[in-house]
Amino acid sequence: MSALVRNLVTGGAGFLGSHLVDRLMQGGEEVICLDNYFTGRKSNVMNWISNPRFELIRHDVTEPIQLEVDRIWHLACPASPLSYQYNPIKTSKTSFLGTYNMLGLARRVKARFLMASTSEIYGNPEVHPQPESYKGCVNTIGVRSCYDEGKRIAETLCFDYYRMHELDIRVARIFNTYGPRMVENDGRVVSNFVVQALKNKPLTLYGNGNQTRSFCYVDDLVEGLIRLMNSNCLGPINLGNPMEFTIRELAELVRKKINPNLDITTHQLPQDDPVQRQPVIDLAKKELNWEPKISLENGLTKTIKYFQETIKL
Ligand code: NAD
Ligand code: UDP
Repeated sequence: MSALVRNLVTGGAGFLGSHLVDRLMQGGEEVICLDNYFTGRKSNVMNWISNPRFELIRHDVTEPIQLEVDRIWHLACPASPLSYQYNPIKTSKTSFLGTYNMLGLARRVKARFLMASTSEIYGNPEVHPQPESYKGCVNTIGVRSCYDEGKRIAETLCFDYYRMHELDIRVARIFNTYGPRMVENDGRVVSNFVVQALKNKPLTLYGNGNQTRSFCYVDDLVEGLIRLMNSNCLGPINLGNPMEFTIRELAELVRKKINPNLDITTHQLPQDDPVQRQPVIDLAKKELNWEPKISLENGLTKTIKYFQETIKL
């Protein structure tokens, strides 16, 4: 039997998951990366393939699976509006059945279970900024509901497994995170703007651009997830960068960094697009001694470099 910590990362071939896999592998642990490659890519974890501590499994979390692990990092779920709205029924299934199956596995093998929840559970918030105690304002029947309500029921399942079966859970509410390995065309705003600017195309601003988001660089976020897993805090706990920007400010910043002459074109705001989003991270500061260190300016520089090196211009 191995004395190393055995990790299962669901959604491990995706954007956040693959950065988490990197950190766990660099820490000398064992990692099983499980993914159905809906939005993830083998290439994200390719550099670990021949390492004996690493294993890659193609599997869909809506089906049960038996594995022997100590820690489950449950990230499997499409995260960009474009990908989770592609097949919304499947997104709901992944959120509910996927989380249910992975919680069942954690219960059987007595693994600690961390769930990647989201700021989307706050919906279009009437409380600003958002502390964990805010219950949210979510449309149950809109185009974003498959994801928002899916994550809400996933949180509920985690806490019922905790209450009924004393499962060792951790719930992270992740706010908008960006960085290298975002998919070039998955529609999220940072990758959209950076790729558009690098291709000398106008930046597509939805609505008037006054809606806000708070952008966290991926390395900061992964550090927060690791601290949460190692802590005694169940959550839910906000993990995100509290610096708030309007989407127009983001467009201006990308333009300044890549090409100040680019046009900005305006387009219809998608349905139920939240007006504002900013985390209160007092709990993470207190419980995890964690706060983001990388500014949007510096994180964008790294992200721009990644896309310059990887996309066809
Ligand atoms: P991503 O789309 O890059 O990663 C999701 C991964 O899960 C992909 O590799 C995908 O192929 C896999 N997957 C999807 N459905 C699956 C299924 N049924 N079975 C197995 N694998 C499946 O997105 P991401 O940004 O890396 O997000 C990872 C997690 O973090 C998601 O749960 C997401 O909801 C959460 N999250 C992300 C953000 C963010 O800003 N990036 C914010 C809040 C929450
Ligand atoms: N957005 C935009 N142009 C784009 C893509 C997105 O103006 O090309 C806006 C979108 O309407 C939203 C914000 O940027 O207000 C963040 O969008 P994203 O899809 O990245 O994340 P989410 O809405 O899930 O927070």
